[in-house]
Amino acid sequence: MGKLVRCTCGVELRGRDEADLLPRVRQHAKEAHDLELSDDQIRDMMEVEQ
Ligand SMILES: [Zn+2]
Repeated sequence: MGKLVRCTCGVELRGRDEADLLPRVRQHAKEAHDLELSDDQIRDMMEVEQ
């Protein structure tokens, strides 16, 4: 059971756990949106993938 973040732009990022997903979401936000997200902000966006 992994973790999923749906970005506002429609991109879905998946990881096997938080540690896997956090840096990839941060990188996407930076590259695609020029946005610096904190770990807490990213955790708030996370859903458990069924
Ligand atoms: Zn995005």
